[in-house]
Amino acid sequence: MEYDVIIIGSGLGGLQCGYMLAKKGFKVCVLEKNYQIGGCLQSFRRNGYTFDTGFHHVGSLGKGESLYWLLDQFNLMHLPWHQLDSDAFDEVFLDGKSYCLANGYEPFVEKLSEYFPHQHSNIKAYTHFLKQTNENLFQGLKHDLASVFQQDELIEKSAYQFLQQTIDDDCLRAVLSGTSLKMELNAATLPLYIFAQINGSYIPSAWRLKGGGYKIAESLKTDILAMGGEVHVHTPVTNMEVTDKQITKIYTDDGECWNAQCVISDIHPASTLKLLNKEAVRKSFRSRISSLDNSFGIFTANIKLKDNTVPYLNRNLYIHQNADMWNPSQKGVHSAFVNFSVPESGNTTNKVDILTKMQWDEVSKWVGTAPNHRGQEYEEMKQRKCEELLDLVSLRLPELKNNIETIYTSTPLTYSDYIDTENGSAYGVRKDCNQLYHTILLTVTPVHNLFFTGQNINFHGIFGVSITTLQTCWMVEKFLKKDY
Ligand SMILES: Cc1cc2nc3c(=O)[nH]c(=O)nc-3n(C[C@H](O)[C@H](O)[C@H](O)COP(=O)(O)OP(=O)(O)OC[C@H]3O[C@@H](n4cnc5c(N)ncnc54)[C@H](O)[C@@H]3O)c2cc1C
Repeated sequence: MEYDVIIIGSGLGGLQCGYMLAKKGFKVCVLEKNYQIGGCLQSFRRNGYTFDTGFHHVGSLGKGESLYWLLDQFNLMHLPWHQLDSDAFDEVFLDGKSYCLANGYEPFVEKLSEYFPHQHSNIKAYTHFLKQTNENLFQGLKHDLASVFQQDELIEKSAYQFLQQTIDDDCLRAVLSGTSLKMELNAATLPLYIFAQINGSYIPSAWRLKGGGYKIAESLKTDILAMGGEVHVHTPVTNMEVTDKQITKIYTDDGECWNAQCVISDIHPASTLKLLNKEAVRKSFRSRISSLDNSFGIFTANIKLKDNTVPYLNRNLYIHQNADMWNPSQKGVHSAFVNFSVPESGNTTNKVDILTKMQWDEVSKWVGTAPNHRGQEYEEMKQRKCEELLDLVSLRLPELKNNIETIYTSTPLTYSDYIDTENGSAYGVRKDCNQLYHTILLTVTPVHNLFFTGQNINFHGIFGVSITTLQTCWMVEKFLKKDY
């Protein structure tokens, strides 16, 4: 069987490409290495409860807002999205004091100005910039995909410098940075476009998904199958043959050979190149890709609470104590993100996820060990990390610690083993404003029928990956229709 498109990996980008191209009438096939689809969107079940791994919230899902428009392209707006409190969708608990953020541009400015009245005009300028950035991006997406990356000023600027220049109060800068476990706050590298796109997207509205992020993956898969596409799990792609800059054969673990007019890779570009024969691409391209750094990993505590104990919090909670937020290598646990699962009914929830950043070197000595068999030292390390995390969270939620029934923890090693992310990175390739055109990638590659998609390319997160999907599918369609 010859497919129009074979997609490697069933992460969000892979499934969205499958959906979009199947909808356009192409014969698509998604090959996933794991038993479960979804990549970062996958969930796991223990004792009858489902826990999320890499999805908690999104912004701009209100009717007429940008992510609504984007996800509607993929038939994802029928899912049970749940809006967070608009007068306090985010709470930053900073060294003992809470600061809440409100939805809507005006309310966002006014609410923050209650805490920082002397910064009113700066907050206004900050908010206006984020609004403008997101509106431009939205217009680009709707009308001219090629223009999305042509706002040079935005692209080459550093997010840290922007914040220094726009806001001249240390505490306010920390509050505005404090919701940002959603990206790697790195003073030396983080480009403004990532900071502005992500933080700006939450100002109009903020949402969770009742039941968990895997529902996104399931919905896309169901639609792909209904449109005649295929999704094969437990089918890792092991190598691809390239002749005259074209992939001619795709091999999977079971020895099967697959054929397609083109291939989309939703996995890390460095992992993609490892699937190709050596001479498939020039040495310079290979060394560029293999030299890319990756953003930090995440330590997660998925907690099952005793029933009817801790009230549900319909907002995101970010807790910081002595945090050096823009230094990703700060040792110890100083920041935490707390996410309550939407209650199935009533006002209490029995599931909470707590996340904090974690460096690869904290787990790298256990590389090569199998999940659940990494040994006592690894378990003790996780236990210590978890206790530090719970101590930090207790500063704001003292009732949580005594009402825990069970905790499941995961580290960047878990992500590396299950999803094959480079160094267990949560958000993929680290974009660097000092060498932007080295660290953002095109969806086209030197192999004419190989395309990239997913979070490593230019944006991460549900919003970011969906943007790249549109760009990838646009190029793939041109290729298949020979419209170059
Ligand atoms: C802890 C965490 C929390 C997050 N929270 C949020 C959030 O709240 N909101 C938000 O918007 N974003 C969040 N994100 C980011 C978001 O989940 C990701 O950006 C997005 O899901 C990545 O999608 P992707 O298409 O890049 O694929 P990935 O999720 O990276 O999936 C790649 C897939 O490829 C498969 N694969 C690998 N190698 C092979 C092979 N050889 N053959 C076949 N298949 C292969 C993997 O098994 C995997 O299924 C979070 C991420 C993490 C890690």
